[in-house]
Amino acid sequence: MRFINLTGANEIGANCYLIEYGKRRLLLDCGSHPRVEGIGALPRLEVLAARPPEAVLISHGHLDHLGSLPVLHERFPKAEIWMSPGTAAIADRALHNSASVMIRQRSEIDLPEYPLFTHGQVDRLLERAEALSVGRTAEIADAEVSFFEAGHVQGAVGAWIESEGVSLFYTGDVKFSDMRITRGARFPDRAPDAMVIECTRGNTPSQPDFSWEGEAERFARGIREVHEAGGSVLIPCFALGKTQEVMKLFYDLAEEGRLPRQHVYLGGLGVAYNEVYDELAESLPRLSPRFRLQRDLPWKRLNPRGAAALDLEGGQVFLVSSGMMTPRTSSHVLARRMAREERHAVFFVGYVDPESPAGRLKAAGRGGCADLGGDAGAVEVRCRIESFDFTSHCNREHMAEYVARVAPPRVLLVHGDPPALEWMQRELQRRLPRARVLIPPPGEEVELA
Ligand SMILES: [Zn+2]
Ligand SMILES: [Zn+2]
Repeated sequence: MRFINLTGANEIGANCYLIEYGKRRLLLDCGSHPRVEGIGALPRLEVLAARPPEAVLISHGHLDHLGSLPVLHERFPKAEIWMSPGTAAIADRALHNSASVMIRQRSEIDLPEYPLFTHGQVDRLLERAEALSVGRTAEIADAEVSFFEAGHVQGAVGAWIESEGVSLFYTGDVKFSDMRITRGARFPDRAPDAMVIECTRGNTPSQPDFSWEGEAERFARGIREVHEAGGSVLIPCFALGKTQEVMKLFYDLAEEGRLPRQHVYLGGLGVAYNEVYDELAESLPRLSPRFRLQRDLPWKRLNPRGAAALDLEGGQVFLVSSGMMTPRTSSHVLARRMAREERHAVFFVGYVDPESPAGRLKAAGRGGCADLGGDAGAVEVRCRIESFDFTSHCNREHMAEYVARVAPPRVLLVHGDPPALEWMQRELQRRLPRARVLIPPPGEEVELA
């Protein structure tokens, strides 16, 4: 079995990995780079011209794993497309939203290659897509494939692929512990011949005194303090996964009397994914199966134009995308307005790319100066800035423990920035001295077995 990393670089970019066994080829994920616009956001699909894949497996609905699938389908219409039923429901919203955004950006930021795909192409690929549920096995490109729950977001899976006695397990993005809606990963306890693991948190040491409960209390206290001082709270947030988990946190805090029950402002895409989560509540395992986002918590819809015009009267909560504060999104519009005023606050609730406007605002902190990008330029930060660790990725120690427990002879490290990949390589090599632990260089073939 051979493995080729089709990501542009060793980073959290456009996830896409090719495996070859005998004459068969299978692709794992086909994402787009979250920070790059235009054709540069695609993975190295040109490698596939001489090595066409027979099928592609999608681990979950985040765009860094799914976003280039329509382009792949256009180039390789015969390749089968497999994902979990939850991811299929999410992919519908995610890819149509992507097409809409690109159609808008074509004129806004002068990208003549946009859209990279149309709504019609999304519909066609979704018709072609096949669903594989957790616990079942399908024969795909001459391999036996089964999915395992990965935590992280609803529908996320790790994929076990086995052909002619050689096996590979791809984790996708993972969270081992329970969140508030999505339960923790249920991964296999046996060793594959090779394991491909995500390393998002490889450069983030765990805090020894950290607890979810303590973090939730600090969050509730922070919101109360800002509201009492007449301010509002902006929580820049990924629309898929994080928005729903934080909504559930607000619900729980209100139920426990730690925050007043009040409506939360949501972006349009966040609302769309809330609907998907509610639809999936009947069919997918989850925590609090009777809780419904759309019904059990009051909310109001907000778009970027509304965010620019809204009276920031204090006492409000904005749970809006984009998580990276990409210019022209609601979170960017609100950050520009709120950062200048002492009474307001921006609360970060998960990973932010350090090179994004959100990352720069977080790094600047109160009293600093942050370049928010777009036509906002440098902004003096007078508002309160806080970070809360409600991550939907596993801690690096949890990942290392899992890999060490099943002890595969080969481990490939992906989905992390270089320092994160290097920490994981050192740690796994220490725990598994006889294993081959490598960081697969993009575009190069790695022999697995
Ligand atoms: Zn993800
Ligand atoms: Zn990811």
